[in-house]
Amino acid sequence: GKVIGVLALQGAFIEHVNHLERCVDLNGGSYGQAVSVITVRTKEELWKCDGLVIPGGESTAMSLIAQRTGFYPDLYEFVHNKDKKIWGTCAGLIFISDVLANENTLVKTLELLHVKVKRNAFGRQAQSFTQECDFSGFIPGCTDFPATFIRAPVIEEILDSEDVKVLYRLEREGSPQNGLVVAVKQGDNVLATSFHPELAETDLRFHDWFIREFILK
Ligand code: GLN
Repeated sequence: GKVIGVLALQGAFIEHVNHLERCVDLNGGSYGQAVSVITVRTKEELWKCDGLVIPGGESTAMSLIAQRTGFYPDLYEFVHNKDKKIWGTCAGLIFISDVLANENTLVKTLELLHVKVKRNAFGRQAQSFTQECDFSGFIPGCTDFPATFIRAPVIEEILDSEDVKVLYRLEREGSPQNGLVVAVKQGDNVLATSFHPELAETDLRFHDWFIREFILK
């Protein structure tokens, strides 16, 4: 079977665990093999995993905790292993990226995703929003996914256009935010989203797609 880890150093990891477990409960019969979900805080837990979800939260804190606990080198090695499936959401996207547009020496990133990221690109907490997005270009039939953006980053520049493909650009007609890149895929094993599919209350479509398209492939 496959093991999906959710990095649990900091942030919104429980919501990912719950969504993934609900997917397995409801759809596990069609996965063709056993899928289990664990939280990851140690290298022993990490190396049991076939994939790792890095949640939203605070990328500065996440990176500092990883460094101070001595976990950073294993995380670095794990995410750079091409057999492992990696999904970063929001702060997790920031943590896996190559370069940050905002000067911040505290966020030592994992230098996995070849993009330049701008943190807090939509402003403060009060400017957080949920928007129905048409993800049917990559998730079959998913035309109305409620995507929540909380002090979300955007992908300002793709540094390796051979390897990194845009999955979704924000649709906000008439706004300067129209067209901002908020979801990408790198190779066939790395996924990154600015928004939080784990906060879409009972909507499991995004997590189910991640399991089928990444973990089971
Ligand atoms: N603004 C946060 C950061 O820079 C990310 C916010 C989030 O994960 N919801 O890490």
